[in-house]
Amino acid sequence: VHETGLALEIYRAARQAAGSEGGFPLAKVSVAIGELSAVEPSLLEFAWQAVVAGGKDAAAQLEVEWCPVTRYCPRCGEGKGSSLGSWLPLCPDCGDPMLVKGGEELDLLRVTIEMPDGVPT
Ligand SMILES: [Zn+2]
Repeated sequence: VHETGLALEIYRAARQAAGSEGGFPLAKVSVAIGELSAVEPSLLEFAWQAVVAGGKDAAAQLEVEWCPVTRYCPRCGEGKGSSLGSWLPLCPDCGDPMLVKGGEELDLLRVTIEMPDGVPT
């Protein structure tokens, strides 16, 4: 994933989500990024700064919610940690191959608008 393009997409979506309040600057935009989405959060935040720089949303913060992959054993049905250290790991309890769950998130979660003083939120 190219972080600059993604940051631009997030920005467009956030402005759209701001809807009728779109005249006010964005305060904070929260996104969920999964471990398997191939997005580097620090690069995304850097790209975000470049996207909003100079505009009326220059002060808008990008908040990244990191969603790690969870491994689980289909036989034991339990989560067994989130390490992606090796592929096809075996369950430490029963020896079955473990499956992965989650980690593919790439979602816009929340958009907060900078309200001028005196306007109830
Ligand atoms: Zn097991």
